Amino acid sequence: MTRIASAETRSIPADGEPSPVPHAGHGAERAADVPVVQLDGVVRHFGGTAALDGISLSVRKGEVVGIIGRSGAGKSTLIRCLNGLERPDRGTIAIEGRDITGLSEAELQPLRRRIGMIFQHFNLLSAKTVAENVMLPLKIEGMPRAERRERAAELLDLVGLSAKADAYPSALSGGQKQRVGIARALAARPALLLSDEATSALDPETTASILALLKDINQRLGLTILLVTHEMEVVRGVADRVAVIDAGKIVEDGPVWSVFSAPKAATTRSLLGAIRPDLPPAIVAELAARGERVLGVDLVGPEAATLLAALSIELKAPVRLVHGGIDYIQGQSVGRFFITLPAGAALPQAIAFLTRHGAHVETTGHVPDHV
Ligand code: ADP
Repeated sequence: MTRIASAETRSIPADGEPSPVPHAGHGAERAADVPVVQLDGVVRHFGGTAALDGISLSVRKGEVVGIIGRSGAGKSTLIRCLNGLERPDRGTIAIEGRDITGLSEAELQPLRRRIGMIFQHFNLLSAKTVAENVMLPLKIEGMPRAERRERAAELLDLVGLSAKADAYPSALSGGQKQRVGIARALAARPALLLSDEATSALDPETTASILALLKDINQRLGLTILLVTHEMEVVRGVADRVAVIDAGKIVEDGPVWSVFSAPKAATTRSLLGAIRPDLPPAIVAELAARGERVLGVDLVGPEAATLLAALSIELKAPVRLVHGGIDYIQGQSVGRFFITLPAGAALPQAIAFLTRHGAHVETTGHVPDHV
């Protein structure tokens, strides 16, 4: 992360009025159906390590996409390739329809300005006020001072920090610093906001407020957001879609509610960890000792709310919920239940009923041999 941070800081001159830079992606390339980001078969090796091993990904305008992976999965390399700080060995990367892989450093500069970035450690300039930090990218664009001030005021209002315009970063909390980071990233009206672990240094409550702000900005401005993170909570809080990266490959890609309700890859299941309820081992042991039959049931949709009651009616005796419940993700009811059946109830009848109602059923814990 520091590598990107320092490169980003280097690209901002300390002083002076740089000449205006034209925006990239003109004319037909700006059409609404051109993806904001398009990667095709991107490969990047370091010695014998494939940091990126054939990444293909398309991000449409207005989408919020989470890219999640463990440490070493290839996330930083992917960000550096998107910024043009690293060149892929193979494959193409297009920003707003323009292939950036063959561009010179000078040609990359205006394209970089189409990507606003926010960072884990905020990367604010401590000797400049909040408003001056926000105005910096506009100074680089060559915007006149009065206009810059006006735009910074608008942006600070957007992120709820108008009262801090003349404060220095050292007087702000972590969450406030990240709000300034967001305002600065949006200053030059980028096509894409790229978040590099932007909430990793924040406590859960502040993280939630920053994610809510990002979602609000996405909805109000239609801004496209790519969030690179190792935390599923971040993805859950704000993304529409998630791509899971492991050893340089995308191992799973889909709507957040779908990936959360039925993760396919082992990496996804492991990253979901505590977010997706699993039967605690102590309960497994207790139920096994009692010879109880346990079913793991997944169901997405409004029926999740009434499923267990309906099953109890079908079996003519109450089923017992031992763990799990209903989560609400992107407006979907995502049900994940661990249940035991009433004594004497037929397991095949229960499974047939649940499956008929669209649930995915797994037998968990102890299942007697005769069923
Ligand atoms: P992440 O950001 O997900 O932690 P990285 O993109 O930093 O992953 O790293 C992916 C893989 O590529 C790791 O195995 C890492 O050691 C390797 N790698 C990344 N950058 C370099 C580099 N400049 N030199 C050598 N190996 C690198």
